[in-house]
Amino acid sequence: MSAGGFDPFRPPMIGSRIWEETMTAAEWCCECTGQCGRPHAKTKGRCGTVHGTAHRLTVVASDPLATLADAVTSTERLALCESCDTGRRRVAQHTRATTAADAAQPELFDLPGDRAA
Ligand SMILES: [Zn+2]
Ligand SMILES: [Zn+2]
Repeated sequence: MSAGGFDPFRPPMIGSRIWEETMTAAEWCCECTGQCGRPHAKTKGRCGTVHGTAHRLTVVASDPLATLADAVTSTERLALCESCDTGRRRVAQHTRATTAADAAQPELFDLPGDRAA
């Protein structure tokens, strides 16, 4: 694989058409609305990092645990800046680990929810 044609603005694993469609739909802004674990309160709840030389957005599957290869076939995609993509993966992995722990020890988390009804 030659690196000669590599364009850092266009990740080679996602087709340029998919990439451009997703970026256009996102208006070239990071689409994170808190998935990364940060509230983005200063920018009205959306990250809003604009694609450019300082911050390059990536196109990823909306499922944070999907691989980049999955993103190619997925119909749900997001344009995210690197810090949000990293953050949402961390959050998703943490959530998955916590959910697995809950499932393993249900008695510890068996809250009397019926009482509130
Ligand atoms: Zn972002
Ligand atoms: Zn974010």
